Amino acid sequence: MPIDLIPRADWGARAPRGDYSRLSSTRGVKIHYTGGRVDPAIVDDHRRCAAAVRGIQNGHMDGNGWMDIGYTACVCPHRCVFVGRGPGRVPAANGSGLNSGHYAVLGLVGNSGLIIPPNDMLLGILDAIDWLREKGGAGDQIKGHRDGYATSCPGEPLYAWIRRGCPRPGETAAPTPTSSWTESTVNDLPLLEPGATGRHVKTAFYLLKARGYAKELDPKVIDPTVYSPKFVDEVKKLQEDKGLDKDGRIGRKTWPKLLGL
Ligand SMILES: [Zn+2]
Ligand SMILES: [Zn+2]
Repeated sequence: MPIDLIPRADWGARAPRGDYSRLSSTRGVKIHYTGGRVDPAIVDDHRRCAAAVRGIQNGHMDGNGWMDIGYTACVCPHRCVFVGRGPGRVPAANGSGLNSGHYAVLGLVGNSGLIIPPNDMLLGILDAIDWLREKGGAGDQIKGHRDGYATSCPGEPLYAWIRRGCPRPGETAAPTPTSSWTESTVNDLPLLEPGATGRHVKTAFYLLKARGYAKELDPKVIDPTVYSPKFVDEVKKLQEDKGLDKDGRIGRKTWPKLLGL
């Protein structure tokens, strides 16, 4: 299937405020997520995708003061590749000093709302990488924003896929058995005991919701970064449903269930 490229004019991009720095090649591509909420309604309504990309461009130009959107390309849940800065141009999203090494490709997922990349988004990211290799001299590396920079980006589900070697959804199993890549992903995640706090707790909260639990827990009412008693009870329900020990501790057995692995 050919890449479904959305040119800048088609998504209503603003003109850049200056000239791009040029690139003839990079070591590869770094993958990003939005780091904020992505309305899950976009999954069923592709018309919302262009508006989301325009919002990101506005944030980068007006909020960050950048001359254009920071990403090389943005990929929506419908396998469309929205052209950002495009190939041959230095992106801005990888962090200072890291932009000429890798192109920057965004998967339109966030840390709440839509957090699990749909298969068509993963295929679109692979399309974008092929395109950047062909048109932009991108090398073999596929990394996450967090590789080399202190950030949660691109989020646990997308990063788990990168760690696994970016397998094409629907294709037969990668040479590495599922159990060992699950293990290596999960080994990077901390053990969360009741009372724990921080960004991993928040990740667990939204993963739990994505799995259909904690429906009554409203993040506007309870703090999703605190592993509080009601939140623990919901994790115990998931553990029971999955045949795990109902100990409320999120460790090597419970993380994969939260991640839907
Ligand atoms: Zn990022
Ligand atoms: Zn879309």
